[in-house]
Amino acid sequence: MITASHTPRQPAEVTAAAAAATASSDAWQRELAQAITDPAELCRLLQLDPRMALAALEAAGRFRVLVPRGFLRRMRRGDPRDPLLLQVLPGARELIEQPGYSADPLGEQATQRAPALLHKYRGRALLIATGACAVHCRYCFRREFAYPDHADVAAALTVIAADSSIEEVILSGGDPLSLGTSRLRRLTDDLRNIAHLRRLRLHTRTPVVLPERVDADLGAWIASLPWPCIVVLHCNHANEIDASVRAATARLRAAGATLLNQSVLLAGVNDSVGALHALSEALWSAGVLPYYLHLLDPVRGAAHFEVQESRGRQLLAQLAAQLPGYLVPRLARETRGAPAKTLIAPAPWESLRESPRKSPRESLDDAAY
Ligand code: SF4
Repeated sequence: MITASHTPRQPAEVTAAAAAATASSDAWQRELAQAITDPAELCRLLQLDPRMALAALEAAGRFRVLVPRGFLRRMRRGDPRDPLLLQVLPGARELIEQPGYSADPLGEQATQRAPALLHKYRGRALLIATGACAVHCRYCFRREFAYPDHADVAAALTVIAADSSIEEVILSGGDPLSLGTSRLRRLTDDLRNIAHLRRLRLHTRTPVVLPERVDADLGAWIASLPWPCIVVLHCNHANEIDASVRAATARLRAAGATLLNQSVLLAGVNDSVGALHALSEALWSAGVLPYYLHLLDPVRGAAHFEVQESRGRQLLAQLAAQLPGYLVPRLARETRGAPAKTLIAPAPWESLRESPRKSPRESLDDAAY
């Protein structure tokens, strides 16, 4: 299912594909412009208690609501516990200060080698291509990140060009697919001249929440790249994947991209073996391999999503007992200053024993939306 090789298209094919895309290339931007930004509208469209919108308004002042309408259509009407809704609807719990939760939980400011360049791990560097996203996830560890201006990318490119240890550039953000394809093309045109680059990676949630973004123009750009392109999607629940997402991932694979997925283990969203099993199967149906399942980064406002590490180990052990290894993601934690992610599970069999399910933070007043 996963395309491991990279076969750039010939220039004539690329030109033809780009021409064919012209008529539809603005569709995703129109869709994004119509995304929901008002918690009251979100609650009204989902037939939820209007009091939830009132509670959401104050928290939305810290990190605004953004939900594409196509993503909303995958949520259940009248269900305040819908796993997709919980990821995007602000609540009063975000306003409760928790010890250990901060604006920069991974100490990323200390890894900045240029305003738009984070260098955490050997051989790879993160280019913060934009601060914009197609959706605002309430647990996002960069929800308070001080995003640089466009102009700062030039300084990042200079650092990458001067450091031959950087063999892989990761376009991140925000979400790099929030940028138009012409902007992405200009960016990679600048990277083409750097001889020591071997791979390009994109970290993106856009193909999941706004699959229209994966149009023919984007596919032509990916197919034209001189390096293998790895697209690491961000999907947390099987209900996020419908026919439109499968069509988008098929287009990415047809362009030659290798598709992986990273999720965050989120209380109330995917912290059950059934939810994780269904997610792995849904990813497989879309030609995507589960890669990482991250423990929550302790960002201010997201404590109510925390799942204890012991519970994560238990879930992964149960998952490993049900699925082939290639459908079991690696449970990992990112630790500030560490030279790599800390791998936690799949766990040994003894962790199948029962352990307490809820942390004190998960037991915060569930009704306090
Ligand atoms: S799409 Fe990614 S970067 Fe954007 S808000 Fe969600 S988690 Fe954060």
